[in-house]
Amino acid sequence: MAVEMHAGLASEGGSKLKMLLTFVDTLPNGSEKGIYYALDLGGTNFRVLRVQLGGQRSILETDVERQPIPQHLMTSTSEDLFDFIASSLKEFVEKEGDVSDTTLMRRRELGFTFSFPVKQTSVSTGILIKWTKGFGIEDTVGREVSECLEQAMARKGLNMRVAALVNDTVGTLALGHYHDPDTIAAVIIGTGTNACYLERTDAIIKCQGLLTTSGGMVVNMEWGNFWSSHLPRTSYDIELDADSPNPNDQGFEKMISGMYLGDIVRRVILRMSHEADIFGDALPKLSMPFILRTPLMAEMHEDDSPELTEVARILKDTLEIPDVPSKVRKLVVKVCDVVTRRAARLAAAGIVGILKKIGRDGSGGITGGRSRSDIKMKRTVVAIEGGLYTSYTMFREYLHEAMKEILGEEAAQHVTLMVTEDGSGVGAALLAATHSSDP
Ligand code: ADP
Repeated sequence: MAVEMHAGLASEGGSKLKMLLTFVDTLPNGSEKGIYYALDLGGTNFRVLRVQLGGQRSILETDVERQPIPQHLMTSTSEDLFDFIASSLKEFVEKEGDVSDTTLMRRRELGFTFSFPVKQTSVSTGILIKWTKGFGIEDTVGREVSECLEQAMARKGLNMRVAALVNDTVGTLALGHYHDPDTIAAVIIGTGTNACYLERTDAIIKCQGLLTTSGGMVVNMEWGNFWSSHLPRTSYDIELDADSPNPNDQGFEKMISGMYLGDIVRRVILRMSHEADIFGDALPKLSMPFILRTPLMAEMHEDDSPELTEVARILKDTLEIPDVPSKVRKLVVKVCDVVTRRAARLAAAGIVGILKKIGRDGSGGITGGRSRSDIKMKRTVVAIEGGLYTSYTMFREYLHEAMKEILGEEAAQHVTLMVTEDGSGVGAALLAATHSSDP
């Protein structure tokens, strides 16, 4: 991971890791005050938030509203989509009531979390590379996203400015840093996976002469696409990739994230049913891709009843495999265990790769020659979010275990994984505050 990070920072296209510049050079430090807004657009729903910051790391109030995006707007025109969003935002703002906060005398500032591939041109601007996740509005591709939104807000008579255009992991890092200034990286492990971290600008070789006041910049790794010849890939991984809508893409994500783990388990069980007659006759359900979702896999894995009754129930209800003998139930649990353990260990290795790249793994950096004992390790916090990590206990425990194993007990004591909540919402509002035009 550390080597690929280097390559991705050295040249455009130098690695499968895109290592995207975010232009975020200052992270919130807790002193932010006032009311800021966030807009989180990344799927079939969008959310608008109002966050009131009281300084001294206090978030006084958060109001959130969630709205589905009408299907037809996902493939309509840019103007239709952004007008709809701007109208909802305006309605939300107008419900504010009697706000006496003097900060509202000025223009409102918005952090915009836009979870689609964007070529960032400044902290608040970026060009849409392509739509994903069911969106397909041709006239937005190649356009500046914040401008589309700001024009729509102007049309609706809403006086608001996009202060920061960010990716959700950057929001998570911002929120982590707000709560704890030792936070230098953020990882999301949910349906998909990604990470970002704070890099020194002089290490971003592909962008020579990049200057920021802090001397650092947040880099969005897009680590779901990480690949290396060192990663052993099984036949299940190869087949899952080949059957996916994006073959050869997001290889790391396909081994780690919640979208895929259940389906890897299904593929293993399917092979077992072909090669040994342990489940009985024809099993049509077992051949259906993604029928076994990761939360159900977790339930089977964490079934602690002596007869594994949950395992039997899920096999029967979801996969329509009745009367599975106890020995085979145990085997299914073992498969869940192996798949999750591998995912968690790969994720842990990825996190340690980031720490190694920036010299926070206790080894003195990738080129350092000093021995571990010479170095006093700085406390290092990694902000983490995502349902796979927060809701799947075994995954989380395996990840922690592997971090300790790779870093060593002593170095691991200096590294904290801190769960944050709603980086893509609250974190974006915090970034609007840090990058506010109001000094
Ligand atoms: P997002 O879809 O934005 O990533 P989350 O961070 O909440 O949202 O992650 C949801 C994902 O986490 C689900 O797709 C699922 O794969 C996984 N997940 C949620 N709950 C559980 C659970 N109890 N056990 C295992 N995985 C879970």
